[in-house]
Amino acid sequence: MTIKLLDPKVVSRIAAGEVVERPASVVKELVENSLDADSSQISIEARGGGISLVRVTDNGAGIPSGEVELAFNRYATSKIGNLDDLKSISSLGFRGEALPSIAAVAEVDIVTCAAGESAGNYLSLRDGTIVDRGSQGRSQGTTVTVRGLFRKVPARLKFLKSPATENSHIANVVSQYALAFPEVKFALLIDGRAVLRAPGSGQLIDTVAQVYGLEVAQNMLEIGSGGKEWESGIATSSLSVTGMVGSPAISRSNRSYLSLFVNRRWISSRLLAWAVEEAYHGLLMQGKHPVAIINISLPPDEVDVNMHPTKTEVKFQSEHIVFGAVQKTVRRALIELAPVPKIEEVATAYGAPSGTRQVLRTSPIGGDSPTTSPAIPQTPAVSLPVLRVLGQLLSSYIVAEGPDGLYLIDQHAAHERILFEKIENQRFQQEIEVQGLLEPVTFEVNPTQEEVLKSHSEDLAEFGFSIEPFGDKTYLVRAVPALLYQKDWAGMVRELLDSLSGGDKRDWREEIAISMACHSAVRAGQALTDDEMRELIRQLEQAALPHTCPHGRPTMIRLNSAQLGREFGRS
Ligand code: ADP
Ligand code: MG
Repeated sequence: MTIKLLDPKVVSRIAAGEVVERPASVVKELVENSLDADSSQISIEARGGGISLVRVTDNGAGIPSGEVELAFNRYATSKIGNLDDLKSISSLGFRGEALPSIAAVAEVDIVTCAAGESAGNYLSLRDGTIVDRGSQGRSQGTTVTVRGLFRKVPARLKFLKSPATENSHIANVVSQYALAFPEVKFALLIDGRAVLRAPGSGQLIDTVAQVYGLEVAQNMLEIGSGGKEWESGIATSSLSVTGMVGSPAISRSNRSYLSLFVNRRWISSRLLAWAVEEAYHGLLMQGKHPVAIINISLPPDEVDVNMHPTKTEVKFQSEHIVFGAVQKTVRRALIELAPVPKIEEVATAYGAPSGTRQVLRTSPIGGDSPTTSPAIPQTPAVSLPVLRVLGQLLSSYIVAEGPDGLYLIDQHAAHERILFEKIENQRFQQEIEVQGLLEPVTFEVNPTQEEVLKSHSEDLAEFGFSIEPFGDKTYLVRAVPALLYQKDWAGMVRELLDSLSGGDKRDWREEIAISMACHSAVRAGQALTDDEMRELIRQLEQAALPHTCPHGRPTMIRLNSAQLGREFGRS
């Protein structure tokens, strides 16, 4: 075949295909335009899966009467002017492609009235060509109506899913932008049904309640951070991470409840999704994913949004800083804003140390203390019912009865959970219990361990270890955490130093707490008295996350009466 230039109509349809993949893309582009126009109210209507009709109405700035036709020219935009502007984009749109692309694959009518103009204008386009224009009364704002999407592009039409699926994509786009712009009132009508109403109160929690329901909203924690704490050489004082995250109690079995925004642009990013999930490390059961709404704000010139036709992928100048900021902010909210319930002092059940005991006042962690907003509910306990201990199995499991069936509890994992929360609790209250040794004990390390010890000695001190250099590869230990007093604390420290020498441990403070909990917990194979078992279960009932050990493994198996009935052949 000879080479020839494509007909402009074909060209515009090919280009349109990059921007307009499906009805939800039309909704996304139109809603973005409404948001760029500073609208405070946006209503969206869809019919027939968005193929018959998509209509977006806003009360934004409107398009000045002289520019309405221009808006449908390819690469016509009011949002950027030159190459430099492309380096720091602060609007959602910037390419001037959406309106012409939509008009190339659908029938479009627009009615718009700009601020200060007495009457509005309308314009009708068919196949990308203007077929009607005129003036029409309307209050300030814009309405774009899109009908018969892809009617002339059967190849595209064929790839669309059922109307129900397309509707769900539309609902998702609107939900995401409602979450990103809680101060904007959104209404979504699908086939005449009100599917979503976001009140535009400016409070994210109100939008969360509308989008995800009350139960999720009641289990959300506000996150917020910014400023100097992430800097490591690079000036990122203007980086902030805000939003809300769900308590582990409302985790989901897929990632669709994780919303990421960069400067309030809805994006997809595996890296940031991973950062959020990292923050939940040890708090979620395997295969579970968090509910989270994360907005990263940073100077527009530190992020490139001009990566992909749909503008959903971004590239950060300092990826690792953004990653760290997201991970730390979420982690902090999960741990500090939702303090674990205070666990009563362990009785003498597990050999509490005798001798001198003191409380170590450790220095504040990570600078200033977080401010808890009173409006934010604390993570409620994932409650465990009151259990009656029946006995011990294989010296490793506690058999107990609850109102809903039989419980088999892994005594080591359960005790690890209890102690881990106790340690974290004491650390956040800066009241780690320390046990002075009667005589200082020498402690020898190998060169690798020594490097780790040097760089982490402050953190070990925070947990109650008083370790000072004492000559070649030798250290002097004067005090240890009270919890470990009569345990093999030297073995624990050695193991910890070895495990931390890998280098990239995400959060070694957490590793220390986990390691301490593991080494002081009762072992499998250890016979327990009835009193000890009852005490352990009582404390587990009070744990914030009784169902998993700090490594994320289950602490218990439950057989409810229905399951028991089935096992015995009673249906
Ligand atoms: P872009 O958003 O990339 O600029 P579009 O094709 O989506 O390109 O829109 C073209 C122009 O039309 C915009 O730059 C804006 O000036 C104007 N426009 C589109 N929709 C609206 C709206 N809802 N309110 C005000 N102006 C709008
Ligand atoms: Mg646009």
